[in-house]
Amino acid sequence: MTTTIEHYINGSTFPGTSGNSSAVFNPATGAQSASVALASPDEVNAAVAAASAVFPAWAATTPLNRARVMFKFKDLVEQNSDSLKAMITAEHGKVLGDAGGEVTRGLEVIEFACGIPHLLKGEHSKNVGTDVDSWSEMQPLGVVAGITPFNFPVMVPMWMFPVAIACGNTFVLKPSERDPSPSLLIAELFKQAGLPDGVFNVINGDKTAVDALLAHQDVQAVSFVGSTPIAQYIYATASAHGKRVQALGGAKNHMLIMPDADIDQAVDALMGAAYGSAGERCMAISVAVCVGDEAADQLIEKLTPKVQNLKVLPGTEAEAEMGPLVTAQHLERVTGYVDLGVEEGASLIVDGRNHKVLDYEGGYFIGGCLFDNVTEDMRIYQDEIFGPVLCVVRVPSFDAGCELINNHEYGNGTTIFTRDGDSARQFTHSIQIGMVGVNVPIPVPMAFHSFGGWKRSLFGPLYVHGPDGVRFYTRMKTVTSRWPAGLRRGSDFSMPTMK
Ligand code: NAD
Repeated sequence: MTTTIEHYINGSTFPGTSGNSSAVFNPATGAQSASVALASPDEVNAAVAAASAVFPAWAATTPLNRARVMFKFKDLVEQNSDSLKAMITAEHGKVLGDAGGEVTRGLEVIEFACGIPHLLKGEHSKNVGTDVDSWSEMQPLGVVAGITPFNFPVMVPMWMFPVAIACGNTFVLKPSERDPSPSLLIAELFKQAGLPDGVFNVINGDKTAVDALLAHQDVQAVSFVGSTPIAQYIYATASAHGKRVQALGGAKNHMLIMPDADIDQAVDALMGAAYGSAGERCMAISVAVCVGDEAADQLIEKLTPKVQNLKVLPGTEAEAEMGPLVTAQHLERVTGYVDLGVEEGASLIVDGRNHKVLDYEGGYFIGGCLFDNVTEDMRIYQDEIFGPVLCVVRVPSFDAGCELINNHEYGNGTTIFTRDGDSARQFTHSIQIGMVGVNVPIPVPMAFHSFGGWKRSLFGPLYVHGPDGVRFYTRMKTVTSRWPAGLRRGSDFSMPTMK
């Protein structure tokens, strides 16, 4: 009998009463490891009710005491990082080292949230007029919801809830139904850290649960990370219900390789950025744009043996560099894109289709794939494949490379590899992308900066974590006050101006 992964409402696990569930698989074996309960609107309502009930008390808890809970939570996440890593690898498939990196990047947001007394200090102006002072303060919103994707089951929820909760909000998380287990351990760790029941809740589910959250009148704000069509739907639907929304979507990230770049450095960077986590990262580099044929020929020559020799194994194996894809359906989709690239006329230099791992024949494995001579009109260039498939595009100049990148519908991340400061500066200044690197393969901002893309990679004005995270989870109140209050000054019917 498979175990059922439940919900977590008001400080306790809750089996759910909808009668609906979905299978969770181990991607390395293809075997079902568990079932996850899928919430009905009633269960969503119960989670939101628990979060609403405790909001006034949590919002009234001093920022210092909220930070103290966060400090304890951080220690517990560190102590339990091996369990979190094992859960990630068992349900997502990524290699254990990569799962560890994910936990670390999540922990950094918790560390950022530990500084909440400082982050909420606000602004103050004395004597904006005679005897009149004015200040702005940031107040929490109420119940906020997070809806997260499969590819970072620990880090992406942690982009959201540490900042939201530290700001004084209460939270309902709807994690991906493909790898839901870490969220329940996180809920337990929060309880051990002293977080009051109801402040953090987990609702497992699919579209039914998401739609109930989007329409619920007590949910004040929605943070979403996932694919662009769903991000757009979430943005439109939650906005129509009057909620504040940040919805991060898909990506197609380019590395621009200049003729003067250190090609060995670019090759090493590409191996991790294109094939790490089997390409299932929103900041993965999936297009290498080479300026000039010489750079492209050298890149292909040096990349080819490395891609052919990638160690594609179950994520639990010590020597694994790349694990399986997340589901059988996703494997089929990625393989379909490789077939399509061949049909479209791109040169398939390394073909990872039909990669088999001894004793793991049921696993969702695909080897690294490398295409050369990819052009802008091809769907393998335009679409987000979200697998270990790198496309090399050849362009004649820096300007042509920038134009290609700027024309793409996505604008999440990009990077330039060059030894020329002038090109690097021009690139960072003019490129139409939210997160930009210079000789850095995956320019993911640290927790104290904010993370987000441009164009169809983000719907909504504010990024996640960092200063934007605090802005997103608070609303500003500006108070103008006069002392002594008793002084009679008479009525004035014109627009107030300060003397
Ligand atoms: P997804 O869009 O399929 O699912 C994301 C979440 O939305 C899940 O919780 C899922 O249950 C829910 N969902 C799915 N279909 C829905 C529907 N029709 N209505 C309402 N809710 C629905 O994404 P995924 O496959 O889990 O994750 C991969 C995608 O996430 C990729 O496109 C990747 O680029 C993107 N991603 C983006 C970022 C970023 O920062 N921009 C980060 C990580 C992942």
